[in-house]
Amino acid sequence: MSENLYDILAARFPSDGAKPVMHLEDGSVLSYGDLKAQAGRYARLLTDLGVKPGDRVAVQTDKSANAVFFYLGAVKMGAVYLPLNVGYTGAEIAYFLSDAKPALVVCRPESEAALREIAANSGVPHVHTMDAQGGGSLTDAAAGLEPLAESYPAAADALAAILYTSGTTGRSKGAMLTHGNLSSNALALREIWGFRPGDRLLHMLPIFHVHGLFVAINTTLANGSDMIFLPKFDAAQAVALLPRCSVMMGVPTFYVRLLAEAGFTKEVAAGMRLFVSGSAPLLEETFQAFERRTGQRILERYGMTECGMITSNPYAETPGRPRRAGTVGFALPEVTVRVADEDGRVLGREEIGVLEVKGPNVFTGYWQMPEKTAEEFRADGFFITGDMSKIDAEGYVHIVGRAKDLVISGGYNVYPKEIELVIDALPGVAESAVVGLPHPDFGEAVTAVVKRCSLDGGEIAEEAIIEACAKDLARFKVPKRVFFVEDLPRNTMGKVQKAELRRAYGETFG
Ligand code: ATP
Ligand code: MG
Repeated sequence: MSENLYDILAARFPSDGAKPVMHLEDGSVLSYGDLKAQAGRYARLLTDLGVKPGDRVAVQTDKSANAVFFYLGAVKMGAVYLPLNVGYTGAEIAYFLSDAKPALVVCRPESEAALREIAANSGVPHVHTMDAQGGGSLTDAAAGLEPLAESYPAAADALAAILYTSGTTGRSKGAMLTHGNLSSNALALREIWGFRPGDRLLHMLPIFHVHGLFVAINTTLANGSDMIFLPKFDAAQAVALLPRCSVMMGVPTFYVRLLAEAGFTKEVAAGMRLFVSGSAPLLEETFQAFERRTGQRILERYGMTECGMITSNPYAETPGRPRRAGTVGFALPEVTVRVADEDGRVLGREEIGVLEVKGPNVFTGYWQMPEKTAEEFRADGFFITGDMSKIDAEGYVHIVGRAKDLVISGGYNVYPKEIELVIDALPGVAESAVVGLPHPDFGEAVTAVVKRCSLDGGEIAEEAIIEACAKDLARFKVPKRVFFVEDLPRNTMGKVQKAELRRAYGETFG
């Protein structure tokens, strides 16, 4: 049997092609038959354009049903799908195109002129457009074509996609993902999250990232079920639509914003069987407030562009094995995780080190970065995630921050999360981010950036936060300064941009 991801998903599509796959904002409904026909037409168009299996096709467009069908068509004919964040500017796109050398780039109609110029400079032969409704020159060119029937017989280790990492810790790297990486993850998630006939997903995530594209869409397709597919997250809209859904996937900010809606009640969530959170840490407070409001416990999982999903809290909660706030649960089936120190020495339970992963989900390397790839893999095939973590006595994985965000103050290692947890628990604090800033004596000085929330009788002050930390934490962990902000800087996936904070406050200690 073909190991092409498309075929593996298609084998699980409903036999009745009239069954719905997507419900759109304008009320229109697309069926599995529509999906197959349109993905097949795009696959035919790519073949006609001379795109060969293994060639990259880059896409920077808005979210639409056709954008999803194009992704499936590209994978079907063996091309390597390469989605780009819609927020990238011309200069960034120029870098990605010259790096990836795609055979085709699909862009928004309004960026066509700029893209044509960049494409000409980077040697990209074809440029097509796709608008927010999925129309444009790409769809026009595919209209009327005979859908490609046979998929490219990709082996499990053939490339299916290159996804650029979010660029939280430096320049984004292109993670090369195979058909086997993506299909193994989709089938595993369908299984462990209890997907069943009749499920309906509320899809409000962007589709240029692993979360919205692979976790949400591939898992739904691998279950042959449908989704309400919206251009972006909107809390009021989510409240209106949740009664028609059974599963939602989101980043932590989605859940914070849902809780801020008065209309988000237990009744609204009553028909939901699963809320999944990931891409950034979910605050324990959010988990608890959500449970108080709805009686439901958000299932937190952990993953990354390079590996898809790695760990998940249990779907079926059993005595002694609940979904535990502040943890990301256990490794997926067939995935192995371990915590090791810098030299690769495997650490014991409760010891903090860097999480390493091995399994069918782990990517084959960074596009055109053989040295970087070699540095991030151990000799026995484990990938070094760069996330500081520990596995507790009961086997739950805890992510305590990124290795690059580790603060070394006066020679001591300081894990930001430990301090953030103390600060976040204070009345008057909504959330916090702890960073290390250059300091003449300490090397780095622990510094907290705090978003306040309302507090009876005024607002929390810098001294109060420092005092509270001094009570709970060793002296070297206590922030030397606390700054207040309206909001922590976050990207579209809800990740706090610590590099931005380090830049903004970099001169604090001279
Ligand atoms: P870059 O690799 O370019 O610096 P990035 O790591 O933010 O960017 P992604 O691959 O989008 O790019 O994000 C993966 C990272 O997100 C993980 O390595 C981890 O740090 C974080 N993450 C994902 N899920 C969780 C979670 N549930 N809890 C804590 N952190 C998470
Ligand atoms: Mg990363």
